[in-house]
Amino acid sequence: EIELNGVHKWFGTFHALDDINLVIAPQEKVVICGPSGSGKSTLIRCINRLESHEQGKIVVGGIELTEDEDQIDEVRREVGMVFQHFNLFPHLTILQNCILAPMWVRKIPKKQAIETAMHFLDRVRIPEQAGKFPAQLSGGQQQRVAIARALCMTPKVMLFDEPTSALDPEMVKEVLDTMVSLAKEGMTMVCVTHEMGFAKQVADRVIFMDRGRIVEEGKPLEFFDNPQNERSKLFLSQIL
Ligand code: ATP
Ligand code: MG
Repeated sequence: EIELNGVHKWFGTFHALDDINLVIAPQEKVVICGPSGSGKSTLIRCINRLESHEQGKIVVGGIELTEDEDQIDEVRREVGMVFQHFNLFPHLTILQNCILAPMWVRKIPKKQAIETAMHFLDRVRIPEQAGKFPAQLSGGQQQRVAIARALCMTPKVMLFDEPTSALDPEMVKEVLDTMVSLAKEGMTMVCVTHEMGFAKQVADRVIFMDRGRIVEEGKPLEFFDNPQNERSKLFLSQIL
């Protein structure tokens, strides 16, 4: 379970998160959308403490996120993250990318880490790319590696920050298919995305943010077909 209680964050004088209250249940799939600059990335980055919050409380799997480095590490071990720009290590092969954290953070023996990595590369349907370097793969393939790499840490929660928005259209589907199958297996997921088809297919809840606040939330069909808030209406009319 993830719980944010009265969370505020400022960048200097800029109020990036303004009183965020959100509880995400185990196995729940939440999609976050909203205009550029509304605080979507900041919000999910706070969940694994890539950003720190200044006020309020964030608890992930029973552990409160504070300055405490051990607790931050503990949360990060359980929370996988996939970014817009893949963030693979360019000088390491696909397989090396996937075994690095399990070996060094989880202290898993190399042989076992390789087995796990091959299992997840198989799951995202690119086991034959294991020996290549990231630059030798397409964007869609790189993003699937990024998902496999996160899964190699056997996280309890996966955070996605616009995982398909840097991809060519023909590669979006292969990444979304991977995310859908992950959702069907019961993974807890928090996804910043404007992919409405994905949201309708898997999300339990859609959250709409504007200027650092959650201004609307609802079931995907209700939200997309009948948004209540003026900002949501305007936003949806622009992306549709
Ligand atoms: P986008 O859809 O463009 O990705 P977003 O909703 O993810 O937008 P955030 O990246 O969370 O928005 O940023 C929210 C606001 O905080 C923006 O106005 C941004 O300029 C500001 N911001 C984000 N990171 C920083 C930072 N490190 N320093 C200062 N301001 C920041
Ligand atoms: Mg963002």
